[in-house]
Amino acid sequence: MTSPEGYAGTILRVDLSNRTIRREDVSSDLARTWLGGNGFGVKILWDEVPASVDALSPENLLIFATGPLVGTPWPCSGRMEAIAKSPLTGIYGDSNCGGYLGPELRFAGVDALVISGAADRPVSLWLHDGVFEIEDATHLWGLDTVETEAAIRNSKGDQQIKVACIGPAGENLVPFASIQATPNRSFGRAGLGAVMGSKNLKAIAARGRARVPLAFPVEFSELARRMHQRIRANDFYPGIARHGTSGLVPIVNETGRFPTRNFQRGEYADAELIDGEALRNQYWVRDDGCFACPIRCDKVFQVQEGEFAGAITSSLEYETLNSFGAAIENSNLASIIAANERCDRLGLDTISTGRVISFAMELHENGLLNEQLAAGTKPQWGDYRTALSLIELIAARKGLGALLSLGVRRAAEKIGGDASLYAMEVKGMEIPAQDGRAQQSMGLAHITSSRGADHLKAFPTIDETGYPHEVARRYGQEFLPEMSDPQALRYKPFLVMDGEDLGAVVDSVGICKSGGTHVMAEIYWSEIAEGLTYATGLPFTEISLRTTGERITNLMRAYNALHGITRADDRLPRRFVDEPFIAGGAKGQIAHAEEMLDEYYTLRGWDTRLGWPTTETLERLDLVDVARRLKEEAHG
Ligand code: SF4
Repeated sequence: MTSPEGYAGTILRVDLSNRTIRREDVSSDLARTWLGGNGFGVKILWDEVPASVDALSPENLLIFATGPLVGTPWPCSGRMEAIAKSPLTGIYGDSNCGGYLGPELRFAGVDALVISGAADRPVSLWLHDGVFEIEDATHLWGLDTVETEAAIRNSKGDQQIKVACIGPAGENLVPFASIQATPNRSFGRAGLGAVMGSKNLKAIAARGRARVPLAFPVEFSELARRMHQRIRANDFYPGIARHGTSGLVPIVNETGRFPTRNFQRGEYADAELIDGEALRNQYWVRDDGCFACPIRCDKVFQVQEGEFAGAITSSLEYETLNSFGAAIENSNLASIIAANERCDRLGLDTISTGRVISFAMELHENGLLNEQLAAGTKPQWGDYRTALSLIELIAARKGLGALLSLGVRRAAEKIGGDASLYAMEVKGMEIPAQDGRAQQSMGLAHITSSRGADHLKAFPTIDETGYPHEVARRYGQEFLPEMSDPQALRYKPFLVMDGEDLGAVVDSVGICKSGGTHVMAEIYWSEIAEGLTYATGLPFTEISLRTTGERITNLMRAYNALHGITRADDRLPRRFVDEPFIAGGAKGQIAHAEEMLDEYYTLRGWDTRLGWPTTETLERLDLVDVARRLKEEAHG
């Protein structure tokens, strides 16, 4: 069987228990139906990882999947997905990563890796120019992620090797451990680093020199050139290119949705001390970026003097500035750089790590951390030194870190009493720095996201940044002004659904939501369909691609349904519903996410009582077997 153009052609099946590697072709049918990325991932999970499998058992799969645009001239085409059942949430989990690993895998001849089993001692994978090997990694175990990458490159004498690896947190099976990838990029969310650790897989190294074949290279390059031009001409381009997402801090703070003190407030008095301009003025070293990116939103920052002299980091983004800044009331910017560096080296998701620390601070404030639980630690608002020591304790699962390493939901369950009031999570995933009280679509996005609280699945930016012209272009003039009003409820279920389906396709073809589709809102369905057609030679249309996005989103929901997820799980913490903001740009507001669910489910063709896709919807999406299994489950 030959694979379509636009694919390297190989899915590698790696069984670590038996130490075998097998190649599978990427069939045209698989490519057309599931594209790549999280489309491949959810299809494989559904087929091969039943609900009875524990996330940290050898039976869970860890899937790395690129997409057909990865490593091509398309703007921002350096992204890829890791997919597994999540040890943090126990349901579908995935995480998206930029940089250069995805292109390098394709240049080495691999579209996707499906890793099963568990090795009996630490191993790594070495994938180079069509040769695929399992190597001993005992000497790498215990190293942090920067040390691991350097050791692999040095041992092979090639500094161009791209590496994905875990740090001590992944080795210690922290349920929100990350996988770090060259250069300083993360598969941050959902704890996939712990899945990698459970398989005794320390690292994946890739090096390749082949190029991905394109069906219509001339037409593809011309379209890609126009997309680059559009991005560069976007109103937000200068700001994002200068600051990356750290430039959002003042804008978000002004509108009253910059989570402060574990979401007690939406504005932070010292925001200007931790924003993009402060970073740029004091610590900027150079700009960096992912493969084929015209934006280069990534910045390298280094602290030159003082308590944190020597701390160096990149990918210090809006989310981490919040989780180690406003969320714990810390305006010491150098300490945030140090915290980001420590999380990256230890292999921890900065969002979940910051959130469990702010949770601990609020528990302490309310007298819910007794001496036994606190184990000698007194986490207090603004105490960045304790926050930094907690990062180490969480990665090592020691002291108070052992409790916090469970994530806020399970830690709250263990503490009991009122602790869950301070656990800011949905389906076990800590909520990122997007508050549904100040932007109603975001609250809905958090509760409908397939991996638990998450802004990136739907990524509704059109009512966040105010793109009335894009509302008119995408949806029609009649959707204005409500669709671009962050507080209006009208049209938001539709906006979230469209963002989720578009996001599912974007995450499956391997491009960046910041660079074009969601944040800058320049690239939409028709442009992606045209690009895919030129890349693969398969006849993609806007309509067929919308159906594919819908199919992927529905299968994620069906997978979660098999794990017992229903409408009852689609809810925000009580704080968002019971505690209106007392000041700031969103003063008096609460989140109305749950009020929008009926409309959202109806638009999706889901049962409004259960929140599951109906048989008719699944059959329309060619998911007949999925419909049958869900039906059995509903009646079983
Ligand atoms: S916009 Fe930023 S995250 Fe996206 S591809 Fe470019 S550098 Fe990477």
